Amino acid sequence: MNPPLISIQDLHKSYGDLDVLKGISLNVARGEVVVVIGASGSGKSTFLRCCNGLEAAQHGSIRICGQWLLKDGQDLCDKALNELRRQVGMVFQSFNLFPHMSILSNVAVGPRKILRYSKSESEAMAMQLLEKVGLVDKAHNYPGSLSGGQKQRVAIARALSMQPEVMLFDEPTSALDPQLVGEVLRVMKNLAQEGMTMMVVTHEMSFAREVADTLVVMAEGKIVESGPARAIFDNPQHESTQLLLQTL
Ligand code: ADP
Ligand code: MG
Repeated sequence: MNPPLISIQDLHKSYGDLDVLKGISLNVARGEVVVVIGASGSGKSTFLRCCNGLEAAQHGSIRICGQWLLKDGQDLCDKALNELRRQVGMVFQSFNLFPHMSILSNVAVGPRKILRYSKSESEAMAMQLLEKVGLVDKAHNYPGSLSGGQKQRVAIARALSMQPEVMLFDEPTSALDPQLVGEVLRVMKNLAQEGMTMMVVTHEMSFAREVADTLVVMAEGKIVESGPARAIFDNPQHESTQLLLQTL
């Protein structure tokens, strides 16, 4: 057996007196797609943010791509953290594109500035990624002229431009009009089929059912249930899961 690509052990995170993550353990294999569901406030975003070093946890361990992001509650130094963050792409509910830059530049800027590609190399790579997300024809537009679904597809291309080993998605379609959700989910599904390792927080249950290898259910800072997505959908064990699946 290969070691897991992501290994999280007994992760604890609090904000002041508020315990938000209360001992999360999870292994994710290379190429695995994990969908995380849970009520609002259960700690899903905090969990994902810990997994790419946007939040520091107080206790536990996170190992990604063979590197420790957190070891026995100890953070990495900034240099190692930046290195690791490159391996872990993240897409948020709000797209966070650079409004004053063209779509092409939004996607090319990371490879250019951080991976030190030449201008032509970084632009060629950006065009390939825009092709992957179906937006070549928008390359020279600015974010302001795009729909939410298009913006989110650019955000995915931008995250991919750093050639990550893992992609994290935090409710990527929650801010979109319903008719735009499908185009973003399709891009994510293609990515999963290409073998990308993904952790996805979403309320889109059809996506979870179709694409997830593993479903993780969080409640009040803990994983209360996890396993093959279909098995959980068909036969949810935990009360929180049953409640969630009724309401979603
Ligand atoms: P979810 O994504 O599942 O809705 P979050 O991870 O955003 O949950 O939040 C979990 C809990 O942590 C909530 O009670 C939230 O208010 C709290 N929280 C999140 N971020 C912060 C922060 N930066 N400072 C203080 N409390 C926070
Ligand atoms: Mg959240």
